[in-house]
Amino acid sequence: MKTEVAKQTLIEKDQKHLWHAVYKEVEGANPIIAASGEGSWFNDIDGNRYFDGVSGLWCLNLGHGRKEIVDAAAEQMMKLSYSPLTLSHEPAIELSAKISELLGGEGYKTFFSNSGSEANETAFKIARQYHAQNGNPGKYKFISRYRAYHGSTLGALSATAQANRKLKYDPPAPGFLHVQPPYSYRSPFGDTQDPDMIAAEMIDQMITWEGAETVAGVIMEPIISGGGVIIPSQGYLQRVAEICKKHNVLLIMDEVVSGFGRTGKMFGFMHYEGVQPDIVTMAKGLTSGYLPLGATAVKSEIYKKFKEEGINNHFRHVSTYGGHPASCAVGLKNLEIIERENIVARVAHLGEIILGELKELISHKNVGEVRGAGFLYGIELVEDKETKTPVTDTFVGKIIASCKEKGFIIGKNGDTVPGFSNVLIIAPPLSSTEADLKRLVEAVKIALAEL
Ligand code: PLP
Repeated sequence: MKTEVAKQTLIEKDQKHLWHAVYKEVEGANPIIAASGEGSWFNDIDGNRYFDGVSGLWCLNLGHGRKEIVDAAAEQMMKLSYSPLTLSHEPAIELSAKISELLGGEGYKTFFSNSGSEANETAFKIARQYHAQNGNPGKYKFISRYRAYHGSTLGALSATAQANRKLKYDPPAPGFLHVQPPYSYRSPFGDTQDPDMIAAEMIDQMITWEGAETVAGVIMEPIISGGGVIIPSQGYLQRVAEICKKHNVLLIMDEVVSGFGRTGKMFGFMHYEGVQPDIVTMAKGLTSGYLPLGATAVKSEIYKKFKEEGINNHFRHVSTYGGHPASCAVGLKNLEIIERENIVARVAHLGEIILGELKELISHKNVGEVRGAGFLYGIELVEDKETKTPVTDTFVGKIIASCKEKGFIIGKNGDTVPGFSNVLIIAPPLSSTEADLKRLVEAVKIALAEL
């Protein structure tokens, strides 16, 4: 462990030089300085040990310290330290083939980048160019749902429909439109039998009203994750897929969080029968966060348009580090472990048990709804169950702080909608033990009971 002086120096340098992500500096308070990790746990420089209930930023799916993954990266770096994908290399070839196999359908062609934001940016460019080369140059608009996050870069932020994240970065890029999410708990169509189906029909209506000849794609997560773990009813995604097909609009599935087992299926869209997205974007769990990697997988039939003869018909998009050989080698090893350890089936099974325990919280006066799939849970907190008035940020902050004191890190849907940062979010590493998960649930129960 570091001496007091060494620690103080580090904190001072942190405060002076390091700009943290979505972090409000508070006089006298310091962020946790993580020092080491093992499995689902990590230690800070003071020697405090924490269970990581949000897998870093929903990405550390296999937990810390997987030597096999580290070795795969090191071996690849020694063998071929770098090579751009203007050429080709074995790890990228193998990983793209693996992704295509896992996605099912008729086959996919994958473009690699470095992050989820870039994967979505790439998808937008591919969709626009595809339509232009398919005789529909006017198709440029994208539809996304309120509460969804699709990334931090300006295009992906424009698709993001979370007001608080966009304030002061306006104006967004033109051509990004937002619709009602399938959020039955707060649906304006509450009395209807399945309000999510009305939310689906609103996409149809928006495309018609905008003019289908102007709409390029609909982008959505199968389950809205950071926006508050919002899970659609069974028919929703199928209906959206039908609507997209009817209007010749590409269905872009953002699997950045939900991909690779997080929700108890290899990909989140696989919960919804008959849905085969045109484009699938991935990052995070693709490498379990060991190295950065984003991926945009496109149905082979769409890719065909990029092979046609003609000036500028190829995809003129490049990423220096996208598909780095070491990142792809890590991705391959990560997927090998996920399959070998049957992680997806494990998450589906254990996820149900943990969700059952979390659902007991519904008897608490401030718990409005408990939602979950696999190892992705949202606990929506309200002042009053009748009015569904959201609890304050202070209330949510107290629960998160209380869990942290007990050694459990949990998150919330921060910066989503003004006044609605009221969903606690839990997304632990997929390899977490049952005992640890039960302790985490216990910590949340006690934190709520103490208030
Ligand atoms: N899409 C979703 C659903 C996300 O949750 C995120 C990040 O949290 C992104 C895209 C952007 O990914 P990145 O932070 O790697 O750019």
